[in-house]
Amino acid sequence: MECAAARLRHTIFRASSVTRPAFRGDPVIQPTRSARPAHAIALGLSLLLGACVGGQRGIGVQDRPTSVIFLIADGAGAAHWTLARFATEDLALERMKTVGLVDTRGSDHVVSGSAPTASAYATGVRTFMGAISVGPDSVPVKTVLELAMERGKSTGLMTTTAIQDATPAAFGAHAVSRTRLADISRQFIDRGITVLVGGGRRFFRPDMQGGNDLIAEARGRYTYVETVEELMDLRPDTVDMLLGLLAETEMGVVADRGAGTLRKMTETALDILDRDPDGFFLMVENEESDTQSHDNMGSETITTEMLDFDEVVRLALDYQAEHPGTLVLVTGDHETGGLSLPYGAGLERAAFAAWATPGHTGVLIPIFASGPGAERFGGIIRNDQVGQVLLELLGAEGR
Ligand SMILES: [Zn+2]
Repeated sequence: MECAAARLRHTIFRASSVTRPAFRGDPVIQPTRSARPAHAIALGLSLLLGACVGGQRGIGVQDRPTSVIFLIADGAGAAHWTLARFATEDLALERMKTVGLVDTRGSDHVVSGSAPTASAYATGVRTFMGAISVGPDSVPVKTVLELAMERGKSTGLMTTTAIQDATPAAFGAHAVSRTRLADISRQFIDRGITVLVGGGRRFFRPDMQGGNDLIAEARGRYTYVETVEELMDLRPDTVDMLLGLLAETEMGVVADRGAGTLRKMTETALDILDRDPDGFFLMVENEESDTQSHDNMGSETITTEMLDFDEVVRLALDYQAEHPGTLVLVTGDHETGGLSLPYGAGLERAAFAAWATPGHTGVLIPIFASGPGAERFGGIIRNDQVGQVLLELLGAEGR
C-alpha cells in the first residue's frame, strides 16, 4: 500500500468535462446459492461459425500451434505497459514482435467489461455485459478451451482473483451472468479442466454448493492445495490434475500474494501441462491491473503489477523458445481508468499516473503475439476476431 501523499500526488487529474459512463463492468463478487449442474446447459452447446478473419483462409496443419499460452492483464491498456517499459530495460514483453490493437466492444455496449471480452476471446462471438460464453441469445457457445479438450489437449486456468471470476469463467464455463460463481465452480470441476489455481475457495463450500462439498468431490480426481507453500512443495511429475484454491476470495496485490507468485503458479501449471503430447491451452490472468486502476492508484502500484505479470510473460516466452509449437498471446480485456502519463502534472521527472475515470474505457488495447499464427493477431482486430482466429488455429471445423 503506498502512502497517502504519494497517492494524492499521482491520482488527482480529472477534467470537469469528463462524463463517466455507467459502470457495469466488474461488480464485487457476490456469493450465489444457485448451483445448477453443468450438463443442463452443456446440452445447449453450439459452435457458431463465423467468417474466416485475420488473414488468409485455409491454414496448413504445420502452421497450427500445438499449445497456446494466453496471458491477460485485466484492465491493461497502452499506458499501463508504458509504465512497465519506463521502469525496466528488460521488459520480456518487448521480445514479442507482432503487435495489434483490440477493439473490445460487445454486442450491447461500447465500453466493455471482463465477461463479454473474455467471452469473445473464448468463443469468437461478441456478447452482452456480464455474459459468460453465451451468445447474445443466451445460448452457450463452445469455447477455445473446450475445443482444445476435444483435440485431446490438457487445459489450465489461473488468476490472482477468484478462479470463478469473469475472465477464467469465460474460458471454462457458460452462464448468463458472471455472478453465478457456485455454478461456474461446479462447471470447472465437472468439465475436468486439468489445472485450476487461484482464489475463490469459499464458492466451493457446501453453503454455496447446495450442501455439496465441491472440494471434497474434486479431491477424487484432483491434487488439492490451499497455500503457495503447498503448491511449491508439489512434485508436478506426480500430479495429473491440480486444484489450487489459495484464498477465500481474491489473492490480492503483489504485496499480499507475494512477488512472483503468479509466475510460480504458471511454472507449476506448465510442468503439469507439458506432459501432454497433444499439447495444452493455458490462460493466466492478473486481476490487479484492473482492480488497482479502478482505485486510481499511483504509478508505483500499477508498475509493480505490470512487472510482476511481465515475469509470467518471460516464463511463457522462455518455454516457447524450447517448444516452438507454442503460441503466446498477451493482452488485456479492456482498458481501466483512462490512464495517461501527462506532461507537467507532477513535480518530479518520473512518469506518473493520471486517471480519467474509476471505471473502464473503450480505447483500443494492445495485443502481443509470438509463435505459430502470431501474425494473424497484428493490426486492428476485434475481440471476437481474436477468438475466431484462436478457434481456427486449434482446428475448429469450418474455420
Ligand atoms: Zn474492471
